[in-house]
Amino acid sequence: MSQIINGKEIGQKIREEVQTRVATLKTQGVTPGLAVILVGENPASKTYVANKQKSCEAIGMHSALIKLAEDVSQEALLAEIAKLNQDDAIHGILVQLPLPNHIDEDAVIGAITPAKDVDGFSPVSVGKMMLGQDTFLPCTPYGIMKLLAYSGIEVAGKHAVIVGRSHIVGKPMGQLLLNEDATVTYTHSKTVNLPYYTKQADIIIAAVGRPNFITAEHVKEGAVVIDVGINRNEQNKLCGDVDFKAVEGIASHITPVPGGVGPMTITMLLDNTVKAAENTVK
Ligand code: NDP
Repeated sequence: MSQIINGKEIGQKIREEVQTRVATLKTQGVTPGLAVILVGENPASKTYVANKQKSCEAIGMHSALIKLAEDVSQEALLAEIAKLNQDDAIHGILVQLPLPNHIDEDAVIGAITPAKDVDGFSPVSVGKMMLGQDTFLPCTPYGIMKLLAYSGIEVAGKHAVIVGRSHIVGKPMGQLLLNEDATVTYTHSKTVNLPYYTKQADIIIAAVGRPNFITAEHVKEGAVVIDVGINRNEQNKLCGDVDFKAVEGIASHITPVPGGVGPMTITMLLDNTVKAAENTVK
């Protein structure tokens, strides 16, 4: 049987450490503050934003929500970001994605000052990550690195196969694993014969967005399987990208959905925001 990697438990441990750092900052007169910009009425985005705010408040951080209408102009959105860049009570700025089609996502992300880019999506943060310099790491891949470390899984020298190459998950995930001396293979929708690659993996990261996409034929005996997917199956039940039942007996370690990678993403957002606040008192 595979060992289940419990993201809820590991996330909780890290949140306790982050909460201690918040308390220390408060003794220095600084309350870490996160501003979240929500454009429009996307129900999933609203839920994510509410969870982020709740998590901030639960550990004593300040959170501000800036709600903008679906038809807000790009200029008005950029003006909000410019204000937050200057606001001393705000240490981290996050723009909830996706944005409406009339807004240039790259321009918006690029407008966040690198010192407050707690999502780690701006070109400056991504460049520093590639160079292995200190920066804000994108929350989901950063959280996965923590899951691996807390589970005692050695990364150096391992073959990691990433399925998916999005800017927010797949690409940075491969880079972080490479920075820790893994041998990394990226696969994507144009990859021919995916199981040929995944079957060689010591660590599989599934970030595709398709229910039960990774099956027994993709996984080598004893591999570590990390499931990033958040999908709904035909019964409208939450599920990952991995066919958990089929893979559970083959993998040495596996993350469940829910309760695996999911809880780590917000945890690392809190960690990044506190780091941004700590940087202001250094
Ligand atoms: P994207 O849709 O941006 O990227 C999906 C990737 O999967 C693309 O690179 C695509 O390839 C690749 N892909 C699609 N079909 C195949 C295929 N048949 N074979 C191999 N690769 C394929 O998704 P995200 O990266 O944003 O998210 C992936 C999943 O993770 C989603 O379910 C999302 O909800 C979830 N997620 C979970 C988070 C969490 O906190 N747990 C955080 C963020 C995302 P190509 O580039 O060629 O199109």
